[in-house]
Amino acid sequence: MVQGAINQNTKLTKDWLQNYVDDWVKFYWKHTKEGELASYIPHLMQADKSHLGISIMGINGVTIESGDVDIPFTIQSISKVFTFIVACMERGVSYVLDRVDVEPTGAAFNSIMHLEMKQIKKPFNPFVNAGAITVTSLLNGKTSDEKLEPIFELLENILGYCPSLNMDVFKSESETSIRNRAIGYYLVETGNLESELDLTLETYFKQCSIEISLKDLAHIGTILANDGKDPKTELEIIPKQVARLAKSLMLTCGMYDASGKFAAYVGIPAKSGVSGGIVAVAPPRARHEDLPFLEGCGIGVYGPALDKQGNSIAGIRLLRHIAKQWDLSIF
Ligand code: GLU
Repeated sequence: MVQGAINQNTKLTKDWLQNYVDDWVKFYWKHTKEGELASYIPHLMQADKSHLGISIMGINGVTIESGDVDIPFTIQSISKVFTFIVACMERGVSYVLDRVDVEPTGAAFNSIMHLEMKQIKKPFNPFVNAGAITVTSLLNGKTSDEKLEPIFELLENILGYCPSLNMDVFKSESETSIRNRAIGYYLVETGNLESELDLTLETYFKQCSIEISLKDLAHIGTILANDGKDPKTELEIIPKQVARLAKSLMLTCGMYDASGKFAAYVGIPAKSGVSGGIVAVAPPRARHEDLPFLEGCGIGVYGPALDKQGNSIAGIRLLRHIAKQWDLSIF
């Protein structure tokens, strides 16, 4: 028997929250069978399709974890949030937004069609590959390691340790990424890249291969939920304007070409990656009812079996259920 909706007799203890999340992870686990692993990066095929886990970290410090929470995974497209944040911090928001737009595309993340058909001056948004590769080219530095250093610093400031690169995933993607090279050449021709193509792509593949845990994702979500400040120390890690911009892009463009549905049915900013990770952000809510995590929380989900758009098939259902029952929506 899975736990039902919250009513006035529900006592929102940590045990209640833990049992609730445990029940629903078990319930949605069956959907992992309906998805597929990302195969275009061969190394990602080594993931176990049946994994599903969630970590929820409140701004109030309460953490609930359930399912497969100890599997490290590469962040893939979730890295696009960090490169965008760092580029805005290094170059300034208006410099970056002069070079990449903030419009959803409704097309696949690695689509080339729109670039040519619409004769755009700048890629649609920083979370489609054309936009992300452009943003990576804006990062300061003459080598990929130099370009990535502030991203690792940002992650270390949040997590308290410096994550590593999964070199197997990096090599696997560099050896096979024909589509990203095609996008890259197109961007060279249109004059959108500020650093040389091979350097930009090497940096981009490396940023996608940063390996973290579910708890890390939830922790990052918490900082964004708190407008860029560490809730424990109240120190600013990300400027408020940049954190808010990143969240608005997550809401409108973060879940591939299912971003509209996710905004409508789940209603919180989120970004997913093809390794099966999702980082979601529930900002503080001014609700009167007794609901979990009213102060806001970050949520990390991992489930490498993906739907057609590239989102974790069971992870999305789990997130949607919890967001609905706990009224996490920002609307
Ligand atoms: N490294 C992947 C690519 O560029 C990331 C894709 C994703 O997670 O959406 O194709």
